[in-house]
Amino acid sequence: RGKRAFIAGIADDNGYGWAIAKSLAAAGAEILVGTWVPALNIFETSLRRGKFDESRVLPDGSLMEIAKVYPLDAVFDCPEDVPEDVKTNKRYAGSSKWTVTEVAESVKQDFGTIDILVHSLANGPEVIKPLSETSRKGYLAAISASSYSFISLLKHFLPIMNPGGATISLTYIASERIIPGYGGGMSSAKAALESDTKVLAFEAGRKHKIRVNTISAGPLGSRAAKAIGFIDMMINYSLENAPLQKELYAEEVGNTAAFLASPLASAITGATVYVDNGLNAMAVGV
Ligand code: NAD
Repeated sequence: RGKRAFIAGIADDNGYGWAIAKSLAAAGAEILVGTWVPALNIFETSLRRGKFDESRVLPDGSLMEIAKVYPLDAVFDCPEDVPEDVKTNKRYAGSSKWTVTEVAESVKQDFGTIDILVHSLANGPEVIKPLSETSRKGYLAAISASSYSFISLLKHFLPIMNPGGATISLTYIASERIIPGYGGGMSSAKAALESDTKVLAFEAGRKHKIRVNTISAGPLGSRAAKAIGFIDMMINYSLENAPLQKELYAEEVGNTAAFLASPLASAITGATVYVDNGLNAMAVGV
């Protein structure tokens, strides 16, 4: 039987989530997607109208199929958590069952089990503010959307994950070293995510034989990264200073995710794996 993957955090064909979906599909996995509720309409419309067809092409020439797209907002665990203004917001009112528990329940009803869980989402409303100027609300929102969202997904999907399965999230080196401009508590959120990767690897490994890893990816001009504002500078910095002076392709992160999710990585868990042309190894720019 082929493996089944649920990938949370795809809303277009530019980000790491899309590239991971493609690499998993190329390796034979069935692809389920969780898309942020406010982005769902345009993503599904674009899919339906063939706007992504060119980027759906797999190495064998076939097109990646997405078995189902689920609306998801990973900052809410259950309907009782959703405040009135979100419930009645017209971008949310058109969809239903998009809290984490409900999505896990729907996937269980539709497909029974999954083998691979991918978390490729982050949000920090104050990301452009320096950490020292970040509000409590902004900081906690960054942690909720970018770190706890992984715990929540793991918690609710673990019961439907087949033993031997794997989970993957995406992190950034701003967790460990200073990247001015990656503010709003996003650096803190990534530090939490990386630490949680270790503790959750223990808990999910012992209890369910599930592996938990995170990929520390280099800079990519995704929609989320463009919102931060300094992504072109980071890409150029990497081109100039990384050991490998080449563009970083989303596909390279996708392929690493496919490796980590596969039996080839059966002894790897609790790891932060760098896919960044080696930039993390540099101490100074040259
Ligand atoms: P992206 O815009 O493709 O992906 C981010 C996704 O998160 C979007 O689809 C967005 O709709 C979704 N999202 C935001 N809030 C959500 C919520 N509450 N519930 C559900 N979905 C939500 O951008 P990306 O850069 O590919 O980001 C994917 C992951 O990669 C993130 O964790 C990001 O921090 C990480 N990352 C990105 C870079 C980079 O340079 N782009 C570098 C290292 C790590």
